[in-house]
Amino acid sequence: MNFKIITIFPDFFTTPFKYGIIGRAIKNGTISADIYNLRDYAEDAHRSVDDRPYGGGAGMVMMVGPIWKAVKSLKGNFSRVLLLSPSGKLFNQLLAEKLSKEKELILICGRYEGVDERVAETIADMELSVGDYVLSGGEAAALIVVETIARLIPGVLGKEESLEKESFKDSLLEYPQYTRPRDFMGMKVPEVLFGGNHDKIRKWRERASLAKTKRNRPELIKERKDELNEGN
Ligand code: SAH
Repeated sequence: MNFKIITIFPDFFTTPFKYGIIGRAIKNGTISADIYNLRDYAEDAHRSVDDRPYGGGAGMVMMVGPIWKAVKSLKGNFSRVLLLSPSGKLFNQLLAEKLSKEKELILICGRYEGVDERVAETIADMELSVGDYVLSGGEAAALIVVETIARLIPGVLGKEESLEKESFKDSLLEYPQYTRPRDFMGMKVPEVLFGGNHDKIRKWRERASLAKTKRNRPELIKERKDELNEGN
């Protein structure tokens, strides 16, 4: 999988792409993540990428021209073009799984007051939001999208890491995890985890996962019920 990121702040990604699972995957060539400076595709001597909004209003809007030029030069037969935007489709684990099957993702990072709507209408295949809040730029959002998708690509996670029982599998949050010490200032690890009774441990984890989901994300359980009913 290739990730191509279009941004006015290319240095934003230098450090995050050096470390951890992503860093390793880039180093061993399982994925590539290349950064493109939008200003290199600007159409004037000042390398402008933004202008005042038609109809008035505060701030600047990113122009369609440089983005069109960048995407045209980067896009291949198998690219999907994604525009990061708070008005996009909400990015979640299910969508990440779908997108992880693609060969190449081109991510466009907005800044300022946002991006000329013609980018969403004609250049991007999809507008993606990482949550119901407004960031100052698409870079942090792009990082979230790359981090989430990359670890779903076969070969990216090592043997020691696993996708099997993670949060959002079956629309539930992950069960609580513990490691040493057994007793930390009187806070004890649940007894059932020491017995070595794998059936009991599995049942406890199922119950704990459900309880935690009910407490922190009750809407996930409702969505899951709706999905199951639709399946019938
Ligand atoms: N005025 C716009 C916000 C612009 S924020 C509005 O009210 O909708 C500037 C840029 O940050 C956006 O163009 C987008 O690329 C990025 N951004 C902000 N919030 C985001 C979110 N929740 N998900 C994805 N990208 C986001």
